[in-house]
Formats: sequence, structure tokens, C-alpha cells
Amino acid sequence: MFIDGRWTPGTGGGDQEIVNPATGKVIAHVPKGSEEDVNRAVAAARKAFDGGWSDTTPRDRSERLLKLAEAVEAHGDELAKLESENVGKPLAPTRSEEIPPIADCFRFFAGAARTLEGRAVGEYMQGYTSMLRREPLGVVGSIAPWNYPLMMAAWKIAPALAAGNTVVLKPSEWTPLTALRLAELAADILPAGVFNVITGDGEPVGAGLVRHPGVSMVSLTGDVATGKEVARAAASSLKRVHLELGGKAPVIVFDDADLSKAVEWIRIGGYFNAGQDCTAATRVLAGPHIQEKLLADLVSSVKSLKVGDPLADDTEMGPLVSEEQLTRVSGFVDRARKAGAEVLTGGTRIKKPGSWYEPTVVVPNGPDAEIVTKEVFGPVVTVQRFSDEEQALAWANGVDYGLAASVWTRDVGRALRMARKLQFGTVWINTHIPLVNEMPHGGYKQSGYGKDMSVYSLEEYTQLKHVMASLD
Ligand code: NAD
Repeated sequence: MFIDGRWTPGTGGGDQEIVNPATGKVIAHVPKGSEEDVNRAVAAARKAFDGGWSDTTPRDRSERLLKLAEAVEAHGDELAKLESENVGKPLAPTRSEEIPPIADCFRFFAGAARTLEGRAVGEYMQGYTSMLRREPLGVVGSIAPWNYPLMMAAWKIAPALAAGNTVVLKPSEWTPLTALRLAELAADILPAGVFNVITGDGEPVGAGLVRHPGVSMVSLTGDVATGKEVARAAASSLKRVHLELGGKAPVIVFDDADLSKAVEWIRIGGYFNAGQDCTAATRVLAGPHIQEKLLADLVSSVKSLKVGDPLADDTEMGPLVSEEQLTRVSGFVDRARKAGAEVLTGGTRIKKPGSWYEPTVVVPNGPDAEIVTKEVFGPVVTVQRFSDEEQALAWANGVDYGLAASVWTRDVGRALRMARKLQFGTVWINTHIPLVNEMPHGGYKQSGYGKDMSVYSLEEYTQLKHVMASLD
């Protein structure tokens, strides 16, 4: 673990094996953390907050975040390799599509740190001046998932530090390696205790952060069920909670859409990171006249995906992150098949060491099928045929999730009508999946609350204080 600026063993006893899912081989051991480790890390973060970090100027924090961005870039190849080995991601896109936006995230918040503001200062009562202070909260407990371990960590750490908080990060128990390396790189840039990483399971380490009275805010990216658990546990101390949870993105393709572009983006957005993406293009709703051709083109395009060694330059899809995740994904497809869905391609485990699953396209048996309404989080795309705009909208909104959606049409009025009515935190028009650090990312409905990225995220990591002074 990395606490108070140095490596430290865990106090809980016992190690966690870290596995490369492409080979099934153990590549590292990290300590299984305990509640005592949570206490140590929070104490270090609190000491760093009170002992100077909360008094730093925005410019000072900004300069350090710029150095973190430089460190991520300078060690980009190494971090990409570590991420690829730990998650099974193809190395080339990890290097080209993940490391640059991670560095840019630190750079964006380096700039944003210097723009923190309240609205007007003035006299709202005769004889008194009111002003606003935007202050950090204290120690932020950040809990990250396994699908983009370093990127999700960056989305949490950068705004928290920019706003003047200190951080204790708990990466996923399956994928802690890049977060630990980042903490080591940050030790030359940030004062000891400002950024700590503790390893271990959801209970006791993640839940320990949520319970800890010295943690002022918890920011979780994870499953909806975990989000509910965290919200319940945080209620006892009323600490602030920021939840980025699951998704089930609809991809609504109208008859007038550019079909080849839509298919190309479903191939990218549905299978990037083996579909283990909260915004994955997983639920295609196709217009009545385009559905048949879309399905045929998509199946042939998906069959051409290069699945294999993550280290090979032309690999497009690697394994799933773990045996557990493979069991979960294959369970969804097997149950769908039994319920009468048609599996047009894929649908089985690839038999070799590691946790490999074929890229899969399914025509479900009805709009309420489990495979349509629940997050599968694997390389599985469903395709349904809708009859009109009203039905497309009802089906798109007819799930508990509300993270991201896309609309495909050449009709501007329809695109904007749909964008207005879709109950999702991100709506793309004629594309699916690109995100930028300037824009907020976060859910509607059970996909959670709070925003990552953008100045809106920065606000979440601060609290507003009204200071009123008598002019007498
Ligand atoms: P998960 O909920 O199983 O775990 C997330 C983290 O929470 C892990 O670090 C885990 O150890 C921790 N945790 C588990 N139980 C806890 C508890 N009771 N208290 C505190 N912490 C606890 O999720 P996962 O399987 O690691 O990640 C996949 C999920 O994350 C998917 O649902 C995906 O959609 C979601 N996700 C969302 C976004 C987004 O931006 N909205 C981004 C990426 C992933």
C-alpha cells in the first residue's frame, strides 16, 4: 500500500493474488487491507490536509497537477503495459486512447483549480457585505472499479486535489497496480499523505472508508448495488456521496441514419475494452426498415474483430477481466438463449488459458428481457426493431439506468427532440462513446448522481461558505 508518502505493508495479514486475465497467471501480490489500514491512511490524509495542503494556493496545486500530467506522459508506456497486463486490455489502444486523456484530465483540473469561484460579492442587506468562500471538504475517500483503473482514479483524484482536498484511493481488488504506481510517481510531486492508495476488498476497505468519521466525502465508481450500499452506509454520518454507477446505453438508429457509420461505431463502442464500459453501445434499437440490414452488417463486422494477445499491435479485443466476470457474462447469454433469444454470433467461451469470451450479437426475445434491461458488462450487443419514434423513446428510457445514449438520424429536428427526451446524462448524436474532460460525465436515475470531469465535478469536491460582515 502507499500511505503517507511511502510503501507500507498491510496490517490485516494475507495477500491478494493479482492475475493477468489473458493468461490466468499470477503477476503480483498486494496486501489484503484491513480497517486498521483505512485508519492509518485516513490519519495520514487528515494530517496532510490540516498540515498545509488545505492552505496551498490554487496556483501551487495547479503546478503540481501539471507535473502529475507530465509524469503520466513520461511513464505512459509503462503504465499502459501494467494496465494491459492487469485488465487484459489490448496494449496499443491503452497507450493511444487511455493514457493521453488521463494526462489531459490532470492538465484540465490544473487549469480549473485556478478558476474556483463563488458568484457576486455585495451588499444584500443595508450595512452588511456578503461574500462566498469555496472551500475543500477535507479527506475524500475514492473507490474505483476495475474496467479503467487508472482513468477512473484520475477522474476522482484530479478534481479532489485541485479543490484542495486530500485523498485515500481504494482501487478494485482485481486491478490495483496502476494506482499504486501512480502513487509512487506522485510521491515526488505531492507532499506526503496528500494522495494515499490502500488495497483490499470492498469490505472492510471500501466500506471502512465510507464508515470512517474522518472521511468527509466518498466518491464511488461501481455497480448500482454497490452504490446503494454506499449511500445507505454514508447516511449514518451524512457524508457527501458521489456515485458513478452502471449503464445500459441505447443506440437508437433511425431508418434515415448513415448505416455504415452507425455499424462502425457500434463495433467500436460495443466491444472496446471487451464491452466492459459503463457507456458501451450495448443496446441497439433499430428502425423498422433498417434493422435487417443493420443486423447483417453488424454480425459480419463483429465477426471480423481481432480477438487475441493483448500485446499484439492489431488486437482489437482482449479477455474479460476475470473468471468471475466471464461467468457473469456467459450466464446472461445462456439465460437469454434459454428464454428464446437468438445468438447470431459469439455466445461462448473461447477455450484457452485466461478468461476469454467471443464478441456476441443477440436478438432478444422482447423488450423486457433480462439481457436488454440489465447491465451485462461484456462484449454482448443486443439488437431490437422498433416501430416508431415513440416506441424507440419508450424502450430507450425503459430501464433503471441513465448514463449514456446515442441517436442516429439525418433529421436534425428528430435528433434534438430525442436528445431532449432521453433520460441519460450523456446523449450523443451520430456518434457513440467519445468523452472530453471539459464536459460533465454522470448518470440520471440509478446510474447515480454527481459528475466526473469538467468544472461541475470540481464543484462537487468543494463546499460553499457564506461570510457576512457588518460594515459598522
Ligand atoms: P463494484 O461495484 O463491484 O466495485 C467497485 C468498487 O467498490 C471496488 O473497488 C470494490 O471493492 C468497492 N466496493 C465493493 N463493495 C463495497 C462496499 N460495500 N462499500 C464500499 N466499497 C465497495 O464494481 P466493478 O465490478 O468494480 O465495476 C464495474 C461497475 O462499475 C459497472 O457497473 C460499471 O457500469 C460501473 N462503472 C461506472 C462508470 C461511470 O462513470 N458511471 C465508469 C466505470 C464503471
